[in-house]
Amino acid sequence: MAEPELDQDSALLAVELSEVCGTDVYLQQGRLQGVPYPLVPGHVSVGRLSKIRGTLLDVEGREFREGDRVTFLDVHRTCNACWYCLVAKATTRCPNRKVYGITYGLDDGLCGGWAEQIYLKPGTRCIRLDADAETFMAGGCALPTALHAVERGEIAIGDTVLVLGCGPVGVNAIMLALMRGALKVLCIGAPAFRLAAATQAGAAAVLNFEEHDEHARLEWVLEHTSGRGAEVTIEATGAPDAVVQAMRFTRDAGRVVIVGQYTDHGPVSTEAAFNPHLDLNKKHLDVRGCWGSDFSHFYRSARIVSDPVRSAPWAAFRTQLSRYKLAQANEALAAVASGSVLKALIDPNG
Ligand SMILES: [Zn+2]
Ligand SMILES: [Zn+2]
Repeated sequence: MAEPELDQDSALLAVELSEVCGTDVYLQQGRLQGVPYPLVPGHVSVGRLSKIRGTLLDVEGREFREGDRVTFLDVHRTCNACWYCLVAKATTRCPNRKVYGITYGLDDGLCGGWAEQIYLKPGTRCIRLDADAETFMAGGCALPTALHAVERGEIAIGDTVLVLGCGPVGVNAIMLALMRGALKVLCIGAPAFRLAAATQAGAAAVLNFEEHDEHARLEWVLEHTSGRGAEVTIEATGAPDAVVQAMRFTRDAGRVVIVGQYTDHGPVSTEAAFNPHLDLNKKHLDVRGCWGSDFSHFYRSARIVSDPVRSAPWAAFRTQLSRYKLAQANEALAAVASGSVLKALIDPNG
């Protein structure tokens, strides 16, 4: 594609790595709202600034130079003028926000990571990355998402945390819950190779949900929590019924964070038999939704993976990555859709 005309204070990013995540699979299936097809997918990417027009500053006021390795907040045009931005202070619910690779279409320019270059429009928030591209992308979009969920979970030092799901968000939630001070993290998920990744990430015990019904899962959680349930449960599954189970597996007066329902997977089933009295009110639960990520989550993520000590779990996780060339994007999508890989990266230079 021809190089775009650069607006004042914009830049071109030479992509080193982008990724294929669950959201890309749902994009392909047409299950997200407000998406201007056709588009270039890939909402979180790492690369080097290959061309800057005008001035690009980081959050500390330092000027970016051509050649700097950066990632950028995939959310653009958060308005800081609407009711959600200014009154609710919930910028991820700003109606004016646009997301690279999701709600920016081809008509908006080179706005996705599955490409050699991304056009960073004026106002795009770049974040300096001292880590290598692979270490950051070992977390990828799941890292700021999980960081937001762990923040919403307000994990206290010594808490027992339960993570439902062992996809990228679940695995990142395990790493970050431990960093946040959890005594131990339990994980329920499937299949076995993903549970092994959860163990590698630091889970103290894992359970395969395909081999244990809901009753057996509850018994297992109670065994590991002195009969009370987890202090904090993070749901990262994509299965509506897991939301109800998250409540049941959490101790009375505990906290539940729902982050695995970014796509509309429909209502809970009748078998889930959600009982508002028993499952929620009487348990005195604090149930919190967690939608998207903001600049702070990306910034903290970039800082953690750029730190020589704190980055260790993500550096170790590089062995779990599956790399694909641009021409293999469909193959990568199929692998993510079937769950046969843990994390698929797109390498446009591969
Ligand atoms: Zn994603
Ligand atoms: Zn706004």
